[in-house]
Amino acid sequence: MSAVTPVSPASTVVGFVGLGHMGGPMAANLVKAGYRVRGYDLSAASLAAAVAAGVEPAASAAEAAEGADVVITMLPAGRHVLALYRDEGLLAAAQPGTLFVDCSTIDVADARAAHDAAARAGHRALDAPVSGGVTGAEAATLTFMAGGGETEFVRAEPLLSAMGRKAVHCGAAGSGQAAKICNNMILGISMIAVGEAFVLGESLGLSHQALYDVASTASGQCWALTVNCPVPGPVPASPANHDYRPGFAAPLMAKDLGLAANALRAGGVHAELGLRAAELYAEFAEGAGAAEDFSGIIRTIRDRSAQDTETSSDPSAQDTEENGTATA
Ligand code: NAD
Repeated sequence: MSAVTPVSPASTVVGFVGLGHMGGPMAANLVKAGYRVRGYDLSAASLAAAVAAGVEPAASAAEAAEGADVVITMLPAGRHVLALYRDEGLLAAAQPGTLFVDCSTIDVADARAAHDAAARAGHRALDAPVSGGVTGAEAATLTFMAGGGETEFVRAEPLLSAMGRKAVHCGAAGSGQAAKICNNMILGISMIAVGEAFVLGESLGLSHQALYDVASTASGQCWALTVNCPVPGPVPASPANHDYRPGFAAPLMAKDLGLAANALRAGGVHAELGLRAAELYAEFAEGAGAAEDFSGIIRTIRDRSAQDTETSSDPSAQDTEENGTATA
């Protein structure tokens, strides 16, 4: 294995593009760790908040990349990353051999395209999406899932550990994004399963606490139950106790499940629950869950159960259905 020099705060200039809810505190933690960080965001307010935390302002994304040793991006979606890399001069502005670390959550195919574009421009690349949310970004306790070469991972590790608690090298280009969407597919499906189980328990007269006490120490145990419990009571810190304020916002879960669904279809994977979870979260995020934690989907499950019960106990509705005269 070739000797690799990991970056060090004293000798490393970091360009940081995308200083929003996640990128802002991540950049601030790099400053705290002693790195010189030059940042840019389209939003003047986000840039100003980062500057207040010690980030040097750049006038454009390209300017943030000029002369940087490492360029980190934390952007909404793959199209933003690819547009910056290919069309908006980010790769062209950087000195040859710059390490590009994209921490955004994006499509696996887009991540691979970003790696290719960086390599063609004479740079190195790593996809390194995160889990841990805004609180993890603020507290520097994120988990990074990295895809790319071993050399790139070793070089980036000190930066990742200044922004997080754990970094896992998952494999070649795109593997970080692959790990992220597989993990979040488990999470989305398991939150729906936990929500359905609590609503079933309610209909059978089982208390939330009793179901929690059994399932949390039995084979139903999972993060959706024991950390982010979707009913108030058993886990006092879960968003259910705070009117489902996020937490992990439902639109972000919908986005991640959408990326998982794309990958399922592209790979021909027969994953009925993953695809259904993507549909249910897309509907929830566009409606009642637009500003809620993803665990709030239990309220939709409960509401729909009540509607189904009303319909099945309403003889006139039954008559209409049986007569085949109901309109869709
Ligand atoms: P955000 O919308 O708060 O931040 C994105 C920032 O990128 C915005 O400030 C926007 O102005 C900026 N931006 C967009 N295009 C730009 C461009 N061309 N040049 C410069 N800046 C540009 O989003 P966020 O919550 O910080 O999420 C960022 C990424 O992290 C997303 O991919 C998201 O899926 C992922 N993520 C978010 C969370 C979370 O809890 N928020 C958790 C894990 C992963």
